[in-house]
Amino acid sequence: MPAKELNKPCMDCKNAEFELIVRQRQLCSSCFRRFIAHKVQSRLSVYRAFGLDGPRNQLLLPVSFGVSSSVLLHILYADRQARLSNGRPLGYDFHILVIEPSTVAATGSPFDKNYKALQKNFPMPAITRIPFYSIFDYVPEMQEIMKEYGGPQFTDDSSRSNGERLAAFRASISTATSKTDIDTILLTRLVAEFAKKSGCESVIWGDSDSRLAAKALAGVAKGRGASLTWQVSDGISPWGVRFEYPLRDLFKAELLQYESVCAELSDIIVPDQPPSDNVLTKNLSIDELMLRYVQNQGAKYPGVMANVARTANKLNPSTSGSAPTCALCAGLLGNVTGNSGVTVANQAEDNHSSQFCYGCMRSRPGELC
Ligand SMILES: [Zn+2]
Ligand SMILES: [Zn+2]
Repeated sequence: MPAKELNKPCMDCKNAEFELIVRQRQLCSSCFRRFIAHKVQSRLSVYRAFGLDGPRNQLLLPVSFGVSSSVLLHILYADRQARLSNGRPLGYDFHILVIEPSTVAATGSPFDKNYKALQKNFPMPAITRIPFYSIFDYVPEMQEIMKEYGGPQFTDDSSRSNGERLAAFRASISTATSKTDIDTILLTRLVAEFAKKSGCESVIWGDSDSRLAAKALAGVAKGRGASLTWQVSDGISPWGVRFEYPLRDLFKAELLQYESVCAELSDIIVPDQPPSDNVLTKNLSIDELMLRYVQNQGAKYPGVMANVARTANKLNPSTSGSAPTCALCAGLLGNVTGNSGVTVANQAEDNHSSQFCYGCMRSRPGELC
């Protein structure tokens, strides 16, 4: 029974005007949200362990105020609320972690408004905000790593604040690619250590298919092929917590569409800076270049880019319990065999380099590659 006269009905419910086109289907906003949420929930179904005493699995969701992680938060929260309101078991629960963005990119004022909006619109029992420099608290060996990794070019002054010490270390790294590379490693490490300390068994990252494809391509270019297994595939990370990428079946453009039909996200999300043609390509990091490339090409050939991330997800970790690993990124040292064997032997030029992998050595202060 057609409830109302519709000009262009939604192809799913046929009960509302269509608002969006996704994968050649014209959908209303609620059918669209259901379609996207289903793609995410099916990725996380393994965590739905039902216990009488509440959810067994605690997941950690890092939110950067970017589109992808905020959309993931919206999807998980909506599912949680729906389950609570109709008495269905949760299966898993999640903890939100915000690493204050102003302590990552020196943007000046803290993102208090965004954080308050997050607390107001998604009132979860567990939301934590920490600064990037709290890595000194969560990774006790950070001081030692900085000293070894920084080499003779870098001196750590432990009388300064942790914020200043981390800033000095990051400033000692010379190129845009290396800076982004080291920041990513430190952030990943901080999130993993936080997850362990707060009893979460998995981290659910908000990387879209486009982002994962860019990470796979950039990782190989940076000599980090061996760590692709946990940077782009679902599975155990070297820090003992699992990493999951539940947005892997969704393109960035689809997450932007989702954002456009969720008013609750508008005060939280910090929009991406539009790519400026004035920025010299040589000043962009490989990660940024690859992301631009994947987004441009993905708009034309989405299947090709989906294939990059899908193929990388099939890589098996080079597990070898006793093999020495990099003190900074936990990638394997030395020759790596198997399907992730992009990392090459690390020629120990000095005492410092022997504990860092090839990828990390390339980003070291003073290295200009
Ligand atoms: Zn509909
Ligand atoms: Zn490394």
